Amino acid sequence: MRPVTPQAPSPLECREVVSQLWEYLDERLEPESVVAIDEHLALCEGCRALAGFEKRLVGTLAGLRGRHTDPVRLREDVLAVLRQAGLRGNDSAESPA
Ligand SMILES: [Zn+2]
Repeated sequence: MRPVTPQAPSPLECREVVSQLWEYLDERLEPESVVAIDEHLALCEGCRALAGFEKRLVGTLAGLRGRHTDPVRLREDVLAVLRQAGLRGNDSAESPA
């Protein structure tokens, strides 16, 4: 008989956390995935900062969605928010004059 070693959850890698972050913030993940990400965020400053940023972004986007019904205006506002946040939009989407 072998001693039963409880299987420790393998620590999530940053890229796994990042790839699930939107779903995590959207509360669409399985409870155990949420726990795993919570644990990773508690230990990983980089992912925690990113999660905080995306959380604010989600809140901002939700606010925009409530304000606009016009998808074109909404898209412009979203791009403006992303630019303010220091992210570059898809350059190919905008042709410079
Ligand atoms: Zn990380």
